Amino acid sequence: MSVRTRFAPSPTGYLHVGGARTALFSWLYARKHGGRFVLRIEDTDLERSTQESVNAILEGMTWLGLEYDEGPFYQTERFDRYNAVIDQLLAKDLAYRCDCSKERLDKLREDQMAAKQKPRYDGCCRNKTVSAEVPHVIRFRNPSDGEVVVDDLVRGKVVVANAELDDLIIRRTDGSPTYNLTVVVDDADMQITHVIRGDDHLNNTPRQINMLKALELPVPKYAHLPMILGDDGARLSKRHGAVSVMQYLRDGYLPEALLNYLVRLGWSHGDQEVFSLDEMIELFDLEGVNKAPSAFNTDKLRWLNAHYIKSSDPLRIAHLLSSHLGDLGIDPTDGPELADVIVAQRERAATLVELAQISAFYYKDFDSYPDKAAAKAFKPAAIEVLQTARRAFAEVAEWQRASIHEAMEATVAVLGIGFGKLGQPLRLAVTGGNPSPDLDLTLELVGREASLRRIDRAIAYIQDLG
Ligand code: GLU
Repeated sequence: MSVRTRFAPSPTGYLHVGGARTALFSWLYARKHGGRFVLRIEDTDLERSTQESVNAILEGMTWLGLEYDEGPFYQTERFDRYNAVIDQLLAKDLAYRCDCSKERLDKLREDQMAAKQKPRYDGCCRNKTVSAEVPHVIRFRNPSDGEVVVDDLVRGKVVVANAELDDLIIRRTDGSPTYNLTVVVDDADMQITHVIRGDDHLNNTPRQINMLKALELPVPKYAHLPMILGDDGARLSKRHGAVSVMQYLRDGYLPEALLNYLVRLGWSHGDQEVFSLDEMIELFDLEGVNKAPSAFNTDKLRWLNAHYIKSSDPLRIAHLLSSHLGDLGIDPTDGPELADVIVAQRERAATLVELAQISAFYYKDFDSYPDKAAAKAFKPAAIEVLQTARRAFAEVAEWQRASIHEAMEATVAVLGIGFGKLGQPLRLAVTGGNPSPDLDLTLELVGREASLRRIDRAIAYIQDLG
């Protein structure tokens, strides 16, 4: 049978890093094997599920390019199907009605805790006939003997004794089906061959296998992915900063950098760190997934992002950078070609937000000079140097790198000074202290008019100091 994987988020928040990693691994596995990737929205928790979260999940997947072949399927639209399966289990006596009161169950729990036992349902209604007319839940009749073996593709063999598993509620008093039942029905109906999900679900798996067996349905293969930790060793959460995938877009990350980062969160292929999408699809396998938790490392994500900023087509980066420049009140169509600015600046930033910040000066005069740099570069002697350079720049026939360079050479020759005596104040005057490439190129991109204006401003600034 051809491979079918699924991503089954509960829409109770945005798409976070952990969810995106699960989606990526399922997507990669399907792509690698020429299979199908199904999206299923597990929205049966009506109190916590929102349309807003569904949209956020879809938006995150679209941004990352994790396109699905089928779905999204909504569990809330499948209640009839779940109820039919529950009725089937009841008819075969594989499930039963339970009318144990909350008080009884609470007391049972307390007593078990006091006796240092694992809290579990004691099977009180297993052999009782409870009328359908009284308020009740439906429980799955878990086998009481034997064991369940989960042959996990990441964890290896996990064996659980049936005696450890109690009779799970599969339909609540209000008639709504519960998570384990809906997952079992959906995985079977959607013909999922490989369930790839976070290892927080590992303890549900033996129960799900028992239900699949009771229903005489095929058991898929399982792969439980290791947990993701923050850099402090605790489970990754909001506390560690941006965990919403879309926050990474706002923070200036490229989707391919985040995907590349995510693929290495719990999976490795030798020492390789940089993977194109095609390489990921080709090389990904479940055997390469680690058992141990993986720690989130922002420095590594930044390093990958810097790599992709440097190596991507500048026109594409220009397109993406425009909105970040817009956030700084800059219209990049009014000034030098953005792609040229990007080629000049891209070695100096790890995110598009940083790239926008250090590129703003090409389009807009800056507010002030950094104190330290000004104290160093703007000495009284710089006035004459800047004035001489300004005259030379005003006369340059064509404002481009080579002729700007000649004008700078002429300036230092006339004044009999070293290049640094010109370079330092000139760079600060024109860039406001922002990281920048060779001065002649910087000046060319800033343009003659803005360069001269900024030189005048620097001269006035030094004169004011005096
Ligand atoms: N809906 C579950 C969750 O968001 C995932 C269930 C599964 O993958 O089986 O945690």
